[in-house]
Amino acid sequence: MIPQDNVSDKSWKAQWQTFLRQEVESLIQTVWERIPPSVRESVVELAEAETRVQTLSTRISQGVVTRWAAAHAADDAIPCCPTCGQSMRRVASDRPRAIIGFFGDYRLARAYYACTQGHGGNAPADRRWGLGPDHVSPKRGALAVRFAVEAPFDQASALLQAALGVTVDDETLRRIAHRVGGVAEAEEQAAIAAVAAGHGPDPKAASESPSALVVAVDGVMAQMTPKQWREGKIGVCLPLINDSSAPADGAGTESLLQPVGTPDYCIGFESRPEFWHRGYTHALQAGLDARSCRLVALLGDGAAPE
Ligand SMILES: [Zn+2]
Repeated sequence: MIPQDNVSDKSWKAQWQTFLRQEVESLIQTVWERIPPSVRESVVELAEAETRVQTLSTRISQGVVTRWAAAHAADDAIPCCPTCGQSMRRVASDRPRAIIGFFGDYRLARAYYACTQGHGGNAPADRRWGLGPDHVSPKRGALAVRFAVEAPFDQASALLQAALGVTVDDETLRRIAHRVGGVAEAEEQAAIAAVAAGHGPDPKAASESPSALVVAVDGVMAQMTPKQWREGKIGVCLPLINDSSAPADGAGTESLLQPVGTPDYCIGFESRPEFWHRGYTHALQAGLDARSCRLVALLGDGAAPE
């Protein structure tokens, strides 16, 4: 048991490390001894052993997460009704919510409050836990988005299933990816508006002021619906810095420039003039206006965009 009151972050982490080292070792030994010998002896291949242990650890993980949630099911202040503003009333029994979590399926019970005037109810724990409208935990959702960014939704769903043994159907995956994309695009539009209003964004590469910046633009046709294709305009910004470790032997300046960080990509489906605002904002974020930036190379293939 790890006490959580009046302990510093450092102390808590030290206790957690001790718990992992000592208690978990003891638990492993206990579990091992309790597995019937006939079960242990029936497994002869490593792959099968891993599969069975994965099932075991998944069950344990689900149980610990569910107990953690139960211990924090009612940590919030009594909420007020968003319609009438009156304090809501906690209903007698906590309500379970089915969630596809990092360790599989959970049923997380949490305190539920209802408006006494009949304006509906809500569970404040959902927001505190970072749960959105989809039945997916934040950690699972973040991973699902990573898969969905790298592969088509149906393939991403299959990859998730193969990698972690958890099923997130492709429609749920599409919804989560679109929602995250919507948040990212809103942040992008806010940055573009700030630049248009004369408030430049803070350079992302602030710690490494670039010596040069490469900006490349291109277009790619993207399928929006089964029958509709549109041109996406793409921008890539790559800041470069002088490599101080390279010998100053009179070679060309370009041979001393090295990329810093990872390239910054943007895509927009707006008109060409509007896209330039997006690309310009990204170039500013990459250090276009930095005092140190003495060279800017703009690359394009000369094709007329849509
Ligand atoms: Zn109300």
